Amino acid sequence: MVASALYIVPTPIGNLDDITLRAIEVLKAATLIAAEDTRHSKILLDKLGIGAVKMISCNDHNEEERVEIISNEVNSGGVVALISDAGTPMISDPGYKLVSRLADRGVKVVPLPGPCAAITALCAAALPTDKFLFIGFLPVKDKELSDKLESIRTLETTTVFYESPRRIENTLEKLAAIDPKRKVALCREMTKTFESIYRTDVTSLIAYLKEHQDEVRGEFVLVVGPYEKDATATAADELSAKAKAAMQQLVGPLKAKDACKIVAELTGESRNSLYDYALSLKQK
Ligand code: SAM
Repeated sequence: MVASALYIVPTPIGNLDDITLRAIEVLKAATLIAAEDTRHSKILLDKLGIGAVKMISCNDHNEEERVEIISNEVNSGGVVALISDAGTPMISDPGYKLVSRLADRGVKVVPLPGPCAAITALCAAALPTDKFLFIGFLPVKDKELSDKLESIRTLETTTVFYESPRRIENTLEKLAAIDPKRKVALCREMTKTFESIYRTDVTSLIAYLKEHQDEVRGEFVLVVGPYEKDATATAADELSAKAKAAMQQLVGPLKAKDACKIVAELTGESRNSLYDYALSLKQK
């Protein structure tokens, strides 16, 4: 017996066998299925032998409009299942606004655990799992992308990103510009026939992908290891790329001391480290 509620139902990210028994039970009992893309999800439901069920779309564009229909369905005793194209709804997929509005109205929401590309990749990456940050998709514009990657430069936790084959090489180049030795794991096509997990550092991964362009396709999760302090690096080496770039512009036109003052205020970096960097620029 499946009680009346909105159920968050994860679906496979590549291997149909990863659907859980509970997910099947809820989908079979559903009086309404809200799917990111109804046509896409019909293929899965057909494979599971779930035929005639009322479906509505629930995506980034209409999620808030669905609140009324879904809360009425649950309040009148129905079982509603929210599914996305693959994996766990709401994880870089629609559903957050819907759940938040339903929670405000006191409608019962039941989450089911199940497939999620981020967690699957994290478990395969061989990088620390005690603390991690999930960022999802990175910004598309170069400047925002670099800023986002810069924000994890000294982060002492593992970070998980979703990335597309079109952008992966550019993203890795930007990361290498910030921290060339950073440990990474590229988890590709997980749970599918051509699953591969490549664990290395970012510079070696760039070289590997240049040589293996046939592997720059499919679906990726990029897992980036925590910041590791280089024992041989000086405080000046550890300055952010932004601070170094600003110093390169200002030292020369301005006295080193004045350049350090401005850049320290702008970036929060220490004046002493900036001054050491200014000296190294002058020596060059
Ligand atoms: N909600 C989904 C989840 O729980 O994993 C993620 C949806 S997001 C729109 C899709 C992204 O997840 C893909 O672009 C890719 O980065 C990642 N992804 C999904 N399936 C994957 C797989 N089998 N292998 C690697 N990455 C995958």
